[in-house]
Amino acid sequence: MMYLDNNATTPIDPEVYEAMLPYLKDQYGNPSSKYYDLATNAKKAVEIARNQVADLIGASPEEIIFTGGATESNNFIIKGVMDFMRFYENKGNHLITTETEHKSVIQIGRFLSGEAFNNDEKTKGPFAPKVKIIDRGYDVSFLPVNPHGQVELTELESSLKDTTTLVSIIWGNNEIGSLNDIAKLGELTRSKGVLFHTDATQIIGKLPVNVQELPIDFMSFSGHKIYGPKGIGVAYIKKSGYVKPKLTSLVHGGSHENGYRAGTLAVHNIVGIGKACEILMRDMEKNLISLKKKEAEMREMLITQHPDIEFIGHPTERLPGTISFILPSENNELYIKKIANEMAISSGSACSISEPSHVLKAIGREMDSDHFLRIGLGKSSREF
Ligand code: PMP
Repeated sequence: MMYLDNNATTPIDPEVYEAMLPYLKDQYGNPSSKYYDLATNAKKAVEIARNQVADLIGASPEEIIFTGGATESNNFIIKGVMDFMRFYENKGNHLITTETEHKSVIQIGRFLSGEAFNNDEKTKGPFAPKVKIIDRGYDVSFLPVNPHGQVELTELESSLKDTTTLVSIIWGNNEIGSLNDIAKLGELTRSKGVLFHTDATQIIGKLPVNVQELPIDFMSFSGHKIYGPKGIGVAYIKKSGYVKPKLTSLVHGGSHENGYRAGTLAVHNIVGIGKACEILMRDMEKNLISLKKKEAEMREMLITQHPDIEFIGHPTERLPGTISFILPSENNELYIKKIANEMAISSGSACSISEPSHVLKAIGREMDSDHFLRIGLGKSSREF
């Protein structure tokens, strides 16, 4: 079976697996304990990993906070910044995000604006959502996008208010692959003294990222999209710059991770994401060349097999390896089942698979939801 769903998750790199093993076996120390070897070894391993992650994105290790994944990083950063700035810094209550974010950001926006407390829209019974819209005191704007799913600069400009505290815009869309112009959008945001966050989960490892060269204050990404383990993510928090961002913790408790994220560190996972970042840095160029080649071949193959295919997303400003398309003559779910023994592909985001795609809706293609398919190529996909 050919695995072609790398936007949903990637296989663990064998080097990552090997690096993690000792921390699942003999090196079980708690990095917050003191003085004996098991503890200091664990602490050292975490700090090596923090450096490996920081090196990949041009950050310094103090700017890296380990979380449980990109969903958690998004929650921590957006809720944390909005809360801290409003209640501790007397800043505004306005958050700007977009209609094409990953579900984790969409739901945070809905939570802050008082619309959602449970993620399962279809929940019945006592926990049914939407029972009550409450006033949490935040003001949230979801920016519309162009037909490729990108935020236009003018759209952002006209939605900025005196009360805007944070702008959060996805970098590479997980469903349709289109890229937002983070440099331009972040520049505009910064020129207005507003903080900027990007969800870079699909970008890391596919395109080079240097946070020193970009107007990014906060960034989220995940271990399991970069050949690392699941259940580990990164929140990048810029330490110095035109303002020094501070944010409220999401998980309260001990003083782990600079007091931002309480809980005993998952050393094995942290070692894993560190190793994954080191490998990405080493192999980035080689992987990118191979990914582009595989993608061109796959597109050719698809066109030959399905002359009625329509590719979705921006034709050039898009994630390498993501092929999103509509097959008008096929039902996507049936098609995926039909080819499941040969190929693993998807009908959209694994995080909202049972609902019509909000991304397709945002680009005016909701009607095509039943025909939409996504291939996510990766370094372990073979050439065709
Ligand atoms: N953001 C984007 C763009 C994603 O693609 C994903 C994974 N589907 C996430 C956030 C959530 O990542 P995680 O699974 O690590 O919580």
